[in-house]
Order: sequence, then structure tokens, then C-alpha cells
Amino acid sequence: MVSALVTGTNRGIGLGLVRELLKDPSITIVIAIVRNLETANDLTSIDDTRLHVLKCEITDEKSVVEAVEKVTEIVDGKGLDLLINNAGIMRPLKLDGDVDRSVVMESFEVNAFAPLLVGNKFLGLLRRAAELKGSAQIANISSGLGALENAMSEATKPPVAYSMSKAALNMLTRRQAFEYKEYKVRATAFTPGWVRTDMGTMNAALSVEESTGPLTKLIMSLTEEHNGEFYRFSGDKSPW
Ligand code: NDP
Repeated sequence: MVSALVTGTNRGIGLGLVRELLKDPSITIVIAIVRNLETANDLTSIDDTRLHVLKCEITDEKSVVEAVEKVTEIVDGKGLDLLINNAGIMRPLKLDGDVDRSVVMESFEVNAFAPLLVGNKFLGLLRRAAELKGSAQIANISSGLGALENAMSEATKPPVAYSMSKAALNMLTRRQAFEYKEYKVRATAFTPGWVRTDMGTMNAALSVEESTGPLTKLIMSLTEEHNGEFYRFSGDKSPW
């Protein structure tokens, strides 16, 4: 049995990741987290008994704890093999414009705090899977815009709160990789490329499938040697 959980799955890359995971016959349970079931028709219309759709607000501790309880029942003592922290937001903020505190706080809450909280609350189930099968993993969907090496460029100028929060997610990934290693739970960061979603816009280079197809295969292929690294969807290393 291989189980995977993905956040932010009603649209975009999260929905694409769910579809790709379901193409893999080795995966027996896919848990798709959404915050609003009313906008999840594309997800709930997928006809596959391996798919479990759960409502959860990933920034809310009580909601995440409730989701852990439901997932504990679904996996029935076998633990969780793969957690993909995908949900994210990008809000415009310019350093030479008005500074909107709520934009910065919300960006950190969704892009950095939620992956920390979800990783923390699901650690018990990840550890259980690692005990049974030798390892489990966290995949954090980050962005090249969170890489310090890319920061001195026009391309990264507008969404500074997004870049700051993804840089924080990158640091979280390294800390998870280091601290959860003793439990045989790995953590890796990924950039999906520039993808045609509501966030990426229709001008982006890649369709959802062109990103999530290789990205899912990459995530499923990783081993201990990849712990704490940052990869592009295509498999080459991304700068931090
Ligand atoms: P979309 O804007 O298309 O989708 C975002 C998803 O995140 C939605 O499912 C949304 O749910 C969910 N979400 C947002 N806020 C919350 C919240 N507070 N609680 C729960 N779920 C939430 O984005 P993409 O699919 O393009 O992006 C997915 C990930 O990939 C993000 O982390 C993004 O930063 C990253 N990424 C995307 C790139 C691109 O080019 N598209 C490039 C690099 C990285 P809802 O519909 O309810 O709002």
C-alpha cells in the first residue's frame, strides 16, 4: 500500500498532481485536501475509489488535526507515505509601493506556516509509514522566485511577499530534512516550472500536465540521497 496526500487540489497544479498520482498503479490511496468543497467539482468528479477528498483549512490547527484523524482512519494503521504541500498564494506587493501588512502575513501563513503546521501534525502518520516501509517523504512545492540566487532580477520584482514566503518554505524544507531524518522522513523542495494555472496565468510556458507528469514521477523516484535538496520538475537541481 502506498498513500499520498496533496493540499490545494481543487484546481491548478494540485489537481494535476492528484490526476498523475492516480495514473500510478502502485498508489493505493490518494487524499486530496481542499478548503472548499463547493469549488472542487473537477476533483470530486474523478471516478476512482482510491481517491478521498477531504475538506481542511491548512492554516488552521484545529482543522488540520481533524484532517489527521480522518486520514488515520483512511490509512488504517499503515501511515502516510507521501505528503505534498502544494497549496499556495501569490499576492502583488512592490517594495517601492504601499506596504500592505496583510499581503505579507497571508503569504507567509499559506506558503510557509501551513506547510510547517501540516508537516508537524502529519508527522506521526509519516513516521508510521517509515517504520513499516523504511521511509516516507514530504514534498514542498516551492518556486524559483523563492531562490536567493534568482532575486537580483527584474522577473522577481513584483511579488516580493511571495518570494520571501517561498524562501522561508525552502528553509523549512532543509530543517524538516535535517530534523525528521532520524524518523526516516525525508523532505524535498520542488519548483513546478512556469505553469498555466490561475497563478501562473495563461501566458505560462507549460500546461499543467507538462509540469505535473514529470514532477510526480520525480517525487515518486526520490531516495535518501535526495533528502533536503531543491529540484526543478524536470529533475535537475534548482539553485537555492
Ligand atoms: P493556483 O492559484 O492555480 O491554485 C492554488 C491552490 O492553492 C488552490 O487549490 C487554492 O484553493 C489553494 N489554496 C490557496 N490558499 C489556500 C488556503 N489558505 N488553504 C487551502 N488551500 C489554499 O496555483 P498553482 O496551482 O499554480 O500553484 C500551486 C503551487 O505551485 C503553489 O504553491 C505555487 O506557489 C507553486 N508554483 C506555481 C507556479 C506556476 O507557474 N503556476 C510556479 C512556481 C510555483 P482555493 O481554490 O480554495 O483558493
